[in-house]
Amino acid sequence: MRRFLPPLLALLCTVQAASATAGEPVIRVAISRGASSLNLKTSARLYVLEVDGGQKFMLLENSSYEVRPQGSGIAIAGQHLSSPIRLLPGEGQEKVRLGKHLYQGDIYIDLTEDRKLDIVEHLGLEEYLYGVLPAEMSPDWPMEALKAQAVASRTYALKHISPNRDYDVSNGTEKQAYNGTHNISPRVKEAVDSTKGLVLKYKGRLITAFFHACCGGHTASAKAAWGEEVVKPLYGVTDPYCKPSSHYRWRLFVPAQDLLKAVQSLGSTALKIKSVKVGSTDRSGRALTIRVRSDSGSGSVPASDLRNVLGTFEFRSTYITSISAVKGGYEFAGRGWGHGVGMCQDGAKYMALKGRPFKRILRQYYPGAAITDI
Ligand SMILES: [Zn+2]
Repeated sequence: MRRFLPPLLALLCTVQAASATAGEPVIRVAISRGASSLNLKTSARLYVLEVDGGQKFMLLENSSYEVRPQGSGIAIAGQHLSSPIRLLPGEGQEKVRLGKHLYQGDIYIDLTEDRKLDIVEHLGLEEYLYGVLPAEMSPDWPMEALKAQAVASRTYALKHISPNRDYDVSNGTEKQAYNGTHNISPRVKEAVDSTKGLVLKYKGRLITAFFHACCGGHTASAKAAWGEEVVKPLYGVTDPYCKPSSHYRWRLFVPAQDLLKAVQSLGSTALKIKSVKVGSTDRSGRALTIRVRSDSGSGSVPASDLRNVLGTFEFRSTYITSISAVKGGYEFAGRGWGHGVGMCQDGAKYMALKGRPFKRILRQYYPGAAITDI
């Protein structure tokens, strides 16, 4: 059944952003981006608030509502509203429940400049971290590693808060993974709460506190990885701690045909590869380029581009230690998993298992950074 009832109330003044405690930064997380239309499935009664107009409409429980762009606004079940609209919990409910998800923050639907719909959750930074932490590190890992992750994630999130964009972070792995904040483990809550407000700064400014699964013995410099201007805490360090990790070393067989297709997709005119080797490397030993000799001559491809094309799950890092020609293709061997910049999560785990406190872990991976209040 699809019903949409006429305006009930126009009480904009009673609606406050309530999810963050006073003084706590609010972060805007895009939970769905660029949709041409949305199907809202309610599992409890909800209200839709036209933020600028102040009109409020009721959505029935267990119903589906189509939301789509219309003119300069948003149409929902035949009603035209100005953008943005906000979803509010029904009476007796504290949070918005959509389908299977319970959202802790305030949910907005915005019309973007290119006439698509974004769903953006606004929530307090600490609440957001309850959702980030279990997506980035297993809640059963040692507490001091979880605390180090909480400080890194808080810093990273805060660094991305920008009023000039439609949202601050998305929920995908290109920023930090975020799966909502239902069923929070007590250990996650403890790690976030016991480090509340702590961030990493260098010379008074927040650092971009990158982290990754395993560095393989040496973290990478942010400059080498992305050409970013880089501060001392992100230069890269040797890491004696992650050696016991199962991700410390990897091997991957790449069939000759797949490698050929990959280098072709990166601009090579080769039809037959004759040899492949690591070209230039950064200070940590990670490959910056891969040299390819082929029927059409010799050339280089960026190692990180090749990794992206071949798949970052299988091709675990650019920390390539050997490339061997074998029957039918090439065997790549390397170390670590991920881009290698900032905190090595496996190293943090083994440091914590050796009894190192979270501040010591952070000093290992972000040397020179101050651990300080927001
Ligand atoms: Zn490491």
